[in-house]
Amino acid sequence: MDIRIENLRVFNGIAFVAHSARVSGVGKVPCECGGVASCERCSGSGLREPSDEEIFNMILENDYSSALEHVVFSFEIRGLSKGNAAELLEHRIASHTGRSTRYQSEAGFDFNLPPKVEEILGKHGIREEEYKEMVLRGAAMPEHLPEQEREILRHYAEAIRCSQAAYEALLELGAGKESARYATPFAMHTAYTYTINLRSLINFFGLRLCVRASPEMRELAAKLYLAVREKFPQISRVWCRGYNYAACPENEVRDSPQGKECPFKNPNSRVFIPTRKQIRKGIAPKKFDQEAFERVKEELLRRWSGYP
Ligand SMILES: Cc1cc2nc3c(=O)[nH]c(=O)nc-3n(C[C@H](O)[C@H](O)[C@H](O)COP(=O)(O)OP(=O)(O)OC[C@H]3O[C@@H](n4cnc5c(N)ncnc54)[C@H](O)[C@@H]3O)c2cc1C
Ligand SMILES: [Zn+2]
Repeated sequence: MDIRIENLRVFNGIAFVAHSARVSGVGKVPCECGGVASCERCSGSGLREPSDEEIFNMILENDYSSALEHVVFSFEIRGLSKGNAAELLEHRIASHTGRSTRYQSEAGFDFNLPPKVEEILGKHGIREEEYKEMVLRGAAMPEHLPEQEREILRHYAEAIRCSQAAYEALLELGAGKESARYATPFAMHTAYTYTINLRSLINFFGLRLCVRASPEMRELAAKLYLAVREKFPQISRVWCRGYNYAACPENEVRDSPQGKECPFKNPNSRVFIPTRKQIRKGIAPKKFDQEAFERVKEELLRRWSGYP
């Protein structure tokens, strides 16, 4: 898929979160000196002011999340399919401005490939651009592919070409963009300018950096996570809901076909995250291996984003 995150901007940072927490009132923390009279940080009291980073981490860990709303991210999302844009918009606590299909012409629109098509292409070493070019040319699908796979590629190609042709014909016949757009598919690219605060972004990542999210939403979440991390490294403390809460709310759904690839569900692994139901039954991880988790996370980011 062709999702791109562009022009990411961050408004306010952990200093402002810490400032808001100090306005509210933040307790002191034990000083590393243990209470030495000459200590500049605690003047011998053994208690010192927490740093911005410490306050931020405490707010995240203790889930005093309203303070996180002061950090705001704005960016553009391009190459998202029109169909999956609906999933993005289900995240209501955000602001978005979308590309208008009433005012912009979609003639010759670009489109995303469905997960199954990507899987077939990957299996046979066919590049996505190569296939897209075949789609537009109306070329025959490669003969050497098994018939079922060739048919999947062919049907999809035909649907896209047919939709593009219908759209353009409707425009030529004077139906207008507002009507012609009804002939466009789920896969057609759209673009959004998006603004979301950190609290809501963490909720978004919690839900979408999960094996149960749809492949395109996982790709969007992984690319967004990587883009955010470059400018706001503290996001590294956050991952799926199971990790964030130390308990996965998916419960038995983790054993469903969609959840079968969850790398955190094996009770014998070093990165086991129990479900809520397992915790209630007394099943808990022996020791969570943070370094192993970070490695699993990087592998998921690589796989889901499609970046090398
Ligand atoms: C794997 C998966 C499968 C899904 N399947 C479906 C599906 O089949 N059908 C479907 O319709 N959706 C589906 N969704 C979307 C899901 O139901 C949510 O709409 C979406 O994930 C947005 O989450 P949210 O409501 O937490 O986010 P936001 O809308 O951004 O809300 C953030 C938080 O604000 C609070 N909040 C927001 N609005 C309200 C409100 N009106 N009342 C009270 N509190 C509120 C809640 O605490 C919420 O968590 C699916 C999501 C996932 C991840
Ligand atoms: Zn001290």
